[in-house]
Amino acid sequence: MAGKKSMPVIFVGHGNPMNAIEDNEFSRGWEAAAKKLPRPEAILCVSAHWESWGPQVNSAGKLGTIHDFGGFPPELYRVSYKAQGSGWLAKEVIKLAGGSKVTVSEDRGLDHGCWSVLSRMYPKADIPVIQLSLDQSKTGLEHYNTAKELMPLREKGVLIIGSGNMVHNLYMVDLKGDDFNEEYGFDWANRANVLFKKLIAGREDKELCGYESLGKDAGLAIPTPEHFLPLLYTIALRRDDDSLEFFNDKAVAGSLTMTSLILGN
Ligand code: ZN
Repeated sequence: MAGKKSMPVIFVGHGNPMNAIEDNEFSRGWEAAAKKLPRPEAILCVSAHWESWGPQVNSAGKLGTIHDFGGFPPELYRVSYKAQGSGWLAKEVIKLAGGSKVTVSEDRGLDHGCWSVLSRMYPKADIPVIQLSLDQSKTGLEHYNTAKELMPLREKGVLIIGSGNMVHNLYMVDLKGDDFNEEYGFDWANRANVLFKKLIAGREDKELCGYESLGKDAGLAIPTPEHFLPLLYTIALRRDDDSLEFFNDKAVAGSLTMTSLILGN
């Protein structure tokens, strides 16, 4: 397939759910990223907020908007992202990742890791979307290998989005006032951000898959794996000729980073 035009693949740090409805530098970064991309035929999102035992995808038809968070203003709960699912894409994922025995969840909607980002990137909700859940029985390397099987989707105009946060330690969040987007990072968070970016730029995928062995800063950055694992889907789908661009490269609230990337543009 060398030389053939293929859809870029992205990782988005989603952070605060309020980014869905706030005009801020991060939501503007998502909008700018969407403008750089060719218009997708369909979107496949791997979000931190859908974990299951055995991988699942959404069904076709209208998907609900899951408000999977607490304590936010009423207007955030009123957001409804009215994208349709895609039976075609669900079937493709099930076929390509055949060894993982992906099943269809008939009643699952879109979680905020998916819709908060898409409501800024594609506000018209006129592109079909499904999510692939994170199978909790898989190791980092197994997630990575599953993602590799999805590579042909890039040639079919599918935009694959990993949505999490590379540094995500909610136990250590340090809010100044009540602003989750206050820009500052603990020293360890900033070091972890530099480390992850260096490994991504150097194509050290094996190291990233073995994130448990990356030392103390990475350990603090990844107290639980679900916000980091979507990154492994994105880097697994990298082609040799893809360019790499980081955006929204900021730490917030001490212990989170919004660092995002586009591969291939
Ligand atoms: Zn999250």
